[in-house]
Amino acid sequence: MRVNKEQVVLSKANIASTPNRVLVLRLFLTHNNTTLSLGDILNFLCFAEKSTIFRTLQLFEAKEILHSVVSVDGIKNYALCTQDCIVDNHTHLHGHLKCKECSLMFCTPMVSLPVFETRLGVKIDKVQIIANGTCKDCNQVAYQ
Ligand SMILES: [Zn+2]
Ligand SMILES: [Zn+2]
Ligand SMILES: [Zn+2]
Repeated sequence: MRVNKEQVVLSKANIASTPNRVLVLRLFLTHNNTTLSLGDILNFLCFAEKSTIFRTLQLFEAKEILHSVVSVDGIKNYALCTQDCIVDNHTHLHGHLKCKECSLMFCTPMVSLPVFETRLGVKIDKVQIIANGTCKDCNQVAYQ
């Protein structure tokens, strides 16, 4: 039996391979460092059931195949976890860039993460940084 890349990722995460899971994962693998929302995915997989895809995204995030970032309009966007996800505590040492031209959001490396003061009793669960700007492709078009 031919084993594809999607099945390798799923079996590493101890997730059973189903047609929907393979299709969702394939979308993320072909979109590299671009984030996709539930709506984006349903546009690609228009035959799929919304609740199934929603559960698949939740599962992938719980199993650390995907990470998520909530954009300013409240929409949860997902992207593939890569080698910059530290295995131990799964910290994402990157921010996300929201492109004003194509309105896509991309995983973007950062030099360092800000460190929050926690002495006053606050507890930080997750830091997410979204930069506004222009992505590489749109930038090239603008300066040609
Ligand atoms: Zn991750
Ligand atoms: Zn762009
Ligand atoms: Zn990311």
